[in-house]
Amino acid sequence: MINTGNYSSLRSELKENATLVAVSKFKPAEDIQALYELGQRDFGENYVQELCDKQVMLPPDIRWHFIGHLQSNKVKYIASFIHLIHGVDKLSLLKEINKQAVKHDRIIDCLLQVHIASEETKFGLNEEELDDLINTITADTSSFTHIRICGLMGMASFSDDQSLVKKEFTLLRTLHDRYSALSTANCQLSILSMGMSNDYTLALECGSNMVRIGSLLFGNRNNPK
Ligand SMILES: *Cc1c(COP(=O)(O)O)cnc(C)c1O
Repeated sequence: MINTGNYSSLRSELKENATLVAVSKFKPAEDIQALYELGQRDFGENYVQELCDKQVMLPPDIRWHFIGHLQSNKVKYIASFIHLIHGVDKLSLLKEINKQAVKHDRIIDCLLQVHIASEETKFGLNEEELDDLINTITADTSSFTHIRICGLMGMASFSDDQSLVKKEFTLLRTLHDRYSALSTANCQLSILSMGMSNDYTLALECGSNMVRIGSLLFGNRNNPK
């Protein structure tokens, strides 16, 4: 069951200022279809198998976002259709994405995931690794021909401490701004993907232009994994 009230208020709150990615992991295709019929086109999934199962049964004009932790050996399953890969944090993964994109004769847009939370468990690059990765890619436009780094993605600490969360989002914003003047064929940062159901308001205040929202739209998840 989708929450249409929350959907319309989110849409009017975000207007043209931020893209709403509806995070549909663990939710049935019917729920995605219902939101699609209200005009939603951007959907986010965390697991390759689940994404592929849904992609074949849902409308072809859905823009699928991969927001989970992508393993290199699974890139091939999503390379033909994926709209944006949010969680890239390794050079080897970018190489594989580039390779699969070549096979499909398309450019695959990617966001680099930065570790901004205080928790240990979350994936992502630190500042120095981010810098290295961006330098490597922009210096090698003849190898990285079929990927485009379009922005940064991050997840704040799961915390009630608003000042902590704000500090983390602000860091991501600062990093994004630092690189936003770069413009090579394979790197042009414009997307700042941050903010989920419980912290998107703060994320928007800190400059987010893409929010990833699940439970507000689809209800709580009974996490089977
Ligand atoms: C699940 C998930 C979301 C959505 O979380 P909600 O709290 O349900 O809005 C956003 N981003 C990522 C990376 C996720 O894994």
